[in-house]
Amino acid sequence: MSPPAAVDIEVTGVTDTSSMVIPDPLTLDDVKAWRAKTKMPTGVAAMANSDMFKSPACYNKPSAKRWDHILSAEAKARKSSTLKAAAKYLKQPGMISLGGGLPSSEYFPFDHIDIKVPEPPRFSEDEMRKYGKVARAGRHDIRDGTSEYDLEIALNYGQATGSGQMLRFVTEHTEIVHNPPYSDWQCCLTPGSTASWDATLRIFCERGDYIITEEYTFSTALETAHPLGIRAAAVKMDEQGLLPESLDDVLTNWDEKARGARKPYLLYTVPSGQNPTGATQSIERRREVYKVAQKHDLYIVEDEPYYFLQMQPYTRADGPSVPAPSNHKEFLKALIPSFLSIDVDGRVLRLDSFSKVVSPGSRVAWIVASEQIVERFTRHFECSTQNPSGISQLILFKLLDEQWGHSGYLDWLINLRMQYTNRRNTIVQACEKYLPTEVASWTPPTAGMFHWIQVDWKKHPKAIAGESHDAIEEAIFNAATERNVLVSRGSWFKADSTVDEDGMFFRATFAAAPADKITEAIKRFGEALRAEFRLC
Ligand code: PMP
Repeated sequence: MSPPAAVDIEVTGVTDTSSMVIPDPLTLDDVKAWRAKTKMPTGVAAMANSDMFKSPACYNKPSAKRWDHILSAEAKARKSSTLKAAAKYLKQPGMISLGGGLPSSEYFPFDHIDIKVPEPPRFSEDEMRKYGKVARAGRHDIRDGTSEYDLEIALNYGQATGSGQMLRFVTEHTEIVHNPPYSDWQCCLTPGSTASWDATLRIFCERGDYIITEEYTFSTALETAHPLGIRAAAVKMDEQGLLPESLDDVLTNWDEKARGARKPYLLYTVPSGQNPTGATQSIERRREVYKVAQKHDLYIVEDEPYYFLQMQPYTRADGPSVPAPSNHKEFLKALIPSFLSIDVDGRVLRLDSFSKVVSPGSRVAWIVASEQIVERFTRHFECSTQNPSGISQLILFKLLDEQWGHSGYLDWLINLRMQYTNRRNTIVQACEKYLPTEVASWTPPTAGMFHWIQVDWKKHPKAIAGESHDAIEEAIFNAATERNVLVSRGSWFKADSTVDEDGMFFRATFAAAPADKITEAIKRFGEALRAEFRLC
């Protein structure tokens, strides 16, 4: 099977596979050779899709299932944007455009943008200052043959999929890291996973629907759903996150009358370094969850901003530290496979983002799903965000594609892995030193930026006197803020506030403060707990 053209998107076949051994899957070693066989569409608002960049091995796989039965009325009603579709005529040789409302680049008041970026593996601030490289983006670099992307293109309107230049990078990255087991997967850039999630809800759900989430989940995800009239049905978790038995139980025993809603068909999960619990699903857990999803024909949304913040195993202060992965292969092997990589049905929508691994202010993220679903997202974004910021895409392209390439990006991700390992070790070691284990317990997180501390609130003197869970959680929170340490209350993340909670938790992030401040903060939190629980 040869690369197909996506529905509604006109893509010319550009692939010449003669005289090349086709890689399966695409690896870092062959990405350059494969890329040389593909062609970048470089005009203003040029159309692109992942089929232009996926390696031929992708097409030796079965197609994804169709999802017409779970698309919302809004998603079904969306047509392509007339004006965006007209951009296909711009590539016609000799075409003089009086058609679209695209301003001329002579009125973009920027001559060039210089960015100084670190050169792998010298990633520290000091090294970046000393040894970093300056990458320049000029107005007409494409015309001048010095780059594949420039200000003339990036500063104008683009396509909702994102630029071909960045789409190529994330498509290759997706193939190298996840290698989805079905053929017709696509990527689409978005202005952040928050926007991807907002669009997801509108594409799949109707007012009054339930979605399934972990019992503690990312509060913004719930806050996005709430005003759309979408409610969350909570599934129990352990230190590995979502429990497949609980998922099966909720779905098997769904009572439409009692719930006042049809059986849910959308699961929202954060499999790695879950926000807020820090839990990471093992591959066995992911396989079990996937099986339950198949049984109930559930569509899975994996929100994975912390995927590359998987860390080395935890070691105590007096123990030997675990060395960094010694090469890219070892690093990729150490990552727990994603839902996308085991998705034989095409029932997974992956939300990926540069926020936690490059910078949240870039507002550039991407989704991966079957062609049918990505096409609906593209139509959605055409009439909402239009395209992710061109300035951001250009800066990311300069850094990730031109300066680092996939290999340098993986070096950066290995560096982040080790940085977060150190930070996680610092917070857990501080907890071991300063928290009263009579009432506080935790599991060292293996991914992400959150440490989830359980407090045995029933031992609190006021609990013994009959005070509520909520009042005691508030008292502990206040005792901490009075000592100048801010932690998040577990109840802020509860998916279903009508379910009574036995456990009490506080979320502490080790991403932001420097190591000595993390230790000091935990020491203060320990003092707050001791004072509240009257421990000496
Ligand atoms: N999903 C989760 C689980 C998050 O924790 C966050 C940020 N805290 C986001 C999404 C937001 O991602 P983005 O910046 O790409 O919108």
